[in-house]
Amino acid sequence: MDLNKLADALIPDEGLLPPEEYEIIFPPREMKKGAEVTRLAPSPTGFIHLGNLYSALADERAAHTTGGVFYLRIEDTDEKRKVEGAVESVIRSLKYFGINFDEGAEIDSPLNVYGPYYQRQRAKIYRSFVKKLIKEGRAYPCFCTEEELEKIRAEQTEKKLVTGYYGAYAKCRGLSEEQIYKNLAEKKPYVIRLKSMGDVNVKHPFHDAIKGEITVTENDQDVVILKSDGIPTYHFAHAIDDHFMRTTLVIRGEEWLSSLPIHIELFSVLGFKPPRYAHTCSLMKVDGETKRKLSKRKDPELSLDYYRKAGYYPEAVIRYLMTLLNSDFEEWTLKFPQADWHDFKFRIEKMGKSGALFDLDKLSDVSKTLISTKSPEDIYDFLKGWTDEFGNEKDRAHFEEREYIIKILNLIMGTGGKKRRKDIERAEQGVRLMDYFFDDSFAPRYEFRFDRETVDAVLERFERLYDPADDNGAWFSKVKSVAAELGFAAEMADFKLRPEAYRGSVADVAEILRIAVTGSANSPDLCTIMSILGKERCVARLRAARMRGKE
Ligand code: GLU
Repeated sequence: MDLNKLADALIPDEGLLPPEEYEIIFPPREMKKGAEVTRLAPSPTGFIHLGNLYSALADERAAHTTGGVFYLRIEDTDEKRKVEGAVESVIRSLKYFGINFDEGAEIDSPLNVYGPYYQRQRAKIYRSFVKKLIKEGRAYPCFCTEEELEKIRAEQTEKKLVTGYYGAYAKCRGLSEEQIYKNLAEKKPYVIRLKSMGDVNVKHPFHDAIKGEITVTENDQDVVILKSDGIPTYHFAHAIDDHFMRTTLVIRGEEWLSSLPIHIELFSVLGFKPPRYAHTCSLMKVDGETKRKLSKRKDPELSLDYYRKAGYYPEAVIRYLMTLLNSDFEEWTLKFPQADWHDFKFRIEKMGKSGALFDLDKLSDVSKTLISTKSPEDIYDFLKGWTDEFGNEKDRAHFEEREYIIKILNLIMGTGGKKRRKDIERAEQGVRLMDYFFDDSFAPRYEFRFDRETVDAVLERFERLYDPADDNGAWFSKVKSVAAELGFAAEMADFKLRPEAYRGSVADVAEILRIAVTGSANSPDLCTIMSILGKERCVARLRAARMRGKE
């Protein structure tokens, strides 16, 4: 068969460049030894989840800890899955978590010389190589219809054979020249398939950068490389792209492990040196008694929007993912609490080989610890950013009062004291913690543990004594004197010795005041809260508590 003629018939010239030209257009990158070129290669569906972030962080670290390059390639070969604005949304989401690309689709960079970075715009490159493979007898047209393929599949399933287009089932592999040209003349649609030379009985050792030494069976499937619309499949496009974009390390989900044999054969048939592969394990969660993969359908926490809406500190999400990526990261942060986490020596080889357990409680812990180390001014900015995007109207109005909020934050975060408090776990919960500082969001639950008469007496007496100019000591003396006056122990020690002699202790009196002023029995230092609230508000609240249920 005249393969050159066949190649011309199947892939008309359309000004394609000869394959060798691309080696010149996209020369190897000049980089120092050991520098990794990695990429994130999402399809533009707009949905980017925690698994993508996990992988992107590994890509970013692998590149940036070795002086390499991390780029964004859009795998848009499936037109149906395309969503408007998806690429910008990927970039924005990752940027929010502090992950930035050096190069690629929609990235403004002088490094963008390996593009285009959208696969649809690279059709000519792929076609040039498909043509080359046809000429070499390593690719052929297949005219099988969906129905025919379905029939083959049904037969294989019934015979309990591996399904697919291979061996005797690869019908079009043996088409005569005459038959091919007849089909073309009849304008039958066709795809181009790889003519596999592999043998499934042959196995090779393979080194995966994460999984270590694995065994890979040779491929014998004549996979589709070019679809009937002239657009390549993922398998083919990624081989061409990772070669010409000079990727050194492909980090991708372990669901791609089963396609590895195909990819190895494709690189070999194209005459390219394959990049190193690193297959990441899936993110798992504990669900009842079992562990299972995080699922798009069942687990809202898989979506990255979840973390933004809940207001986890973005760096906390990253730090937590770092502990999942490299288990010694946590130890390192304990050893160097002040260090910039970017200084940690990330290594792809240290990544877990099987399911990483994702635990929201742990993330909350990391988030509150990290928040507690920041300045109130930084946390003000962080919370304000959250209220601007996710807060309600009241929240936004409250956050206009910067000075007032910073005073509150100083208290809530315990910045004046010796020990920092870890009350703020994430923005959504942190903003709610401040509600009682504003009259329009103060929603007290007057759950007093004493009868009305006692409570009212405490409130009324304290109001009479209260002076906003009092310092902490003077303030507390007044609480004690109210206690003594009403039959409560003014000293805790006395109460402990003879509890039966009192109605309660000074702590109970303080609790009554606390509930009246903050609306709940739990709060930071009440005296400071009252000084932040100011006299007018405090008096109004002491009175409102006495009026409870009477309006
Ligand atoms: N487009 C593929 C995906 O979204 C990329 C896989 C890869 O990283 O090679 O899953």
